[in-house]
Amino acid sequence: MHCTERHMLHTRKRFSGFWLPVLVLAIAASVAFGQAVPAPEKFFGHPVGAEKKLARWDKIVEYLQLVAKGSDRVLFQEIGKSTQNHPFVLMVISSPANLKNIDHFKSINRRLFDPRTIASEEEARALIREAKLFLLVTCSMHATEVGATQMSIEAVHRLASEHSPEILSILDQVVFLLVPSLNPDGQIMVTDWYNKNLGTPSENAPLPWLYHPYVGHDNNRDAYMFTQKETQLMGRILYQDWLPAVWLDEHQMGSAGPRIFVMPAMDPINPNVDPVIYRNAGLLGFAQAAALERAGKEGIIYGDMYTYWWEGAMAWCGWWHNMVGMLTEVASARVATAVEQQKADPSQPRTPPPPEERMRGAQQEEGRPLPPPYDVQSRSAYPRPWLGGRWSLRDIVDYELIATFGLLEAGANLRAQLLEGLYMAGKRQIEMGKKGDPFAIVVRQDQADRPTVVKLIQTLARGGLEIHQAQDSFTADGANYPAGTYVLLMAQPFRAYAKDLLEPQVYPKISLAPGVPPRAPYDVAGWSLGMQMGVETVFVKKPFETRLVRLQAIEMPPGQVSGKGSAYFMSHEPNNSLVAVNRLLKAGYDSWLTEKVTIGGKDYAPGGIVVRGGKDLGSTMASIAKSLGIDAVAANVPNLRAMRLRVPRTALYQPWGGNMDEGWTRWLLEQNEFAYTTIHPEDVRRGDLLKSFDAVLFPDMGVNQILNGATARSMPEQYKGGIEEAGVKNLRGFVEGGGSLITLGQSTGLVIDKFAAPFRDGVRGVKREDFFCPGSILRVLVDTTHPIAYGMKEEANAYFTNSMVLEPMPSFATMQSSIVARYPNADILKSGWLQGESYLVNKVGIAEVKLGKGRMVLLPLRVQHRAQPYGTFKLLFNAILTSAAY
Ligand SMILES: [Zn+2]
Repeated sequence: MHCTERHMLHTRKRFSGFWLPVLVLAIAASVAFGQAVPAPEKFFGHPVGAEKKLARWDKIVEYLQLVAKGSDRVLFQEIGKSTQNHPFVLMVISSPANLKNIDHFKSINRRLFDPRTIASEEEARALIREAKLFLLVTCSMHATEVGATQMSIEAVHRLASEHSPEILSILDQVVFLLVPSLNPDGQIMVTDWYNKNLGTPSENAPLPWLYHPYVGHDNNRDAYMFTQKETQLMGRILYQDWLPAVWLDEHQMGSAGPRIFVMPAMDPINPNVDPVIYRNAGLLGFAQAAALERAGKEGIIYGDMYTYWWEGAMAWCGWWHNMVGMLTEVASARVATAVEQQKADPSQPRTPPPPEERMRGAQQEEGRPLPPPYDVQSRSAYPRPWLGGRWSLRDIVDYELIATFGLLEAGANLRAQLLEGLYMAGKRQIEMGKKGDPFAIVVRQDQADRPTVVKLIQTLARGGLEIHQAQDSFTADGANYPAGTYVLLMAQPFRAYAKDLLEPQVYPKISLAPGVPPRAPYDVAGWSLGMQMGVETVFVKKPFETRLVRLQAIEMPPGQVSGKGSAYFMSHEPNNSLVAVNRLLKAGYDSWLTEKVTIGGKDYAPGGIVVRGGKDLGSTMASIAKSLGIDAVAANVPNLRAMRLRVPRTALYQPWGGNMDEGWTRWLLEQNEFAYTTIHPEDVRRGDLLKSFDAVLFPDMGVNQILNGATARSMPEQYKGGIEEAGVKNLRGFVEGGGSLITLGQSTGLVIDKFAAPFRDGVRGVKREDFFCPGSILRVLVDTTHPIAYGMKEEANAYFTNSMVLEPMPSFATMQSSIVARYPNADILKSGWLQGESYLVNKVGIAEVKLGKGRMVLLPLRVQHRAQPYGTFKLLFNAILTSAAY
């Protein structure tokens, strides 16, 4: 909305119509607008970043609205609501003239992003001359990294009220898009927790729960999967509505080392990204660093810690969209409390800690200053090292303000060059796509788990990809595809994104010197989404022609009910079949998992679902099939060799202090309509679990963490402690009495260490040089006759990230144990990085161990990791469902 109109509405109440024209003239002058914007200090009652002061999200929103009301340079937009229903805000800041024509500039920007809409180089040049640079800054994705959100208050105020030539040039050349908080829920949680404990012995206590309602610190890892509301809203801003050419995501890091990281990042680069993106990220990062050096700031580093390899960390995702994705990481205080660090003596070199430790950063213990910084060697990437001292929230805000304005200034000055880079990158992507290899990526709809196929396509569409659908059957690279097949033509601007997200990752082997082993990735190395989701995606090399329709929305095709009879049969292959089971059980229908069933002369794979009896079953099945996109067959099924299901009573363990895997699991259970109860360490210590639960689920966490819980000295008493030996005893009683203990990831160590499960972890204690596999996709062989593997294929892709490897012990033969999935004897790595394949050959990935009347399900492979590997969700779902079967 344009501001003058708002002022008219606003003033009409107070003044008679006679004065109106005079007032409109008066407020049209920008000086009048400037005066209408309150200074932050006046509004919040303290300067931004003042010691131990945090502005809370509701007040920040109120302030930003006030600024927008008082300034014709600022628009306030509530894009939607966060998970916990707080406003998710986008500020649009530019000159009044630009904002008046914002739709025009949006359409020019959109055309530069899509060179297919530009007829000639001449036209491109003309558009670039006229265009504005859309530059996005996103703040405080990780909610304890509070600085950027606080900084945004001052940044908006300056842009709304200052008249310097630098500010006017920014406003003229740039359309500044600002998301003041990527995680409003977390901002509120952290602010309230901090204020509550201020001045008490718990002043430095960590939050006892995740600072995003479901995914905590992992919220940036949702960047291409779009599972969470906030990521979905960002997807709309990024790839549908605004298309920023430059995108800076402002984070914070540990407290003990450099003060700020700026771009460029370090090797390896990702081969699918256009080189101009790396160069422009470097250019803009250097502009930020230079602005900080001009201001005399210390401890500015580039080319360290963060690599250019990985998809899935928010702004990183911009690179595959021809956007210049940028990162700043500023050293942290303790939320809003300053930290002290001992001074280093550069003449006394000390051995630096390993990189993982540096990434984590040292924590200051109460009352004692941090040890002095290690990295004090002056060099081109770090000319004026930080040597220690005091570091406060205001320091963070200052660094971020300079970094933000340094970027805006460089954006204004380099506007034309940056836009040319954007245009050329898009143009080259389209030319490569036309040439082929790949020409297209095709995805058949008629795969075993059709709803998951559709979900994959929906996820790709959220990332801004163009999706076509074949209207007829066709042939490509010699293979036939039916009508309805999804086609991603590679001649589209975001070709790199589609290709990178769907192809197998091959992590570059970079050695620092001949004979030195290649450097291993520090984080996720493989993400191939088709593999993770169990959906076949085919890269077609040669150009082909067929009738295609561009899809505007990706709908779930309704499932069908066919046949005649009193019972209904569903395949176990679609994940949604288990959602259907949950609905049917809840509605009171009898449901069975069959070992073997023949319907209409056709034999079905083990795990087929049969539902019988009850009123309105026909219409219930019809509506379930329709909404979930799964097919059902009505038949008379006289004899069943089957397991009867009940609604499983599931407990999900939640440690105090928060656990991201718990959050993801909770989200996944809710999405798939599994009921659950959250339990805490004290519930396990108390015992009597069998009375209330059929299954107890432990998320990925170490055994020590399970046993000892939150140990921070400052943690309030009620959140301290783990399950302890009493809890172990209770869990054993639970299993022996008939319960199912399901362990995800590292928590499998609990049943190995404490319940003598007949396995050992084959990679425990193995040196990193010998075995290392962070975030990669591996091939496993599955026993599909095992109820935990019902609905799976005999060969599957599973996610491995520093997981345990189960090696059967001699006691394996005597205990009632079964292997659900094992590694083959060769070609194990499908995507990512695997050092030391021999450690996996023929070893066990997933197992079941009986104990007394109950059992333990060992899922060290990350079957539901970050809610991405749809292809292995069933292993968890089956473990839960069968815990209540009889
Ligand atoms: Zn962060």
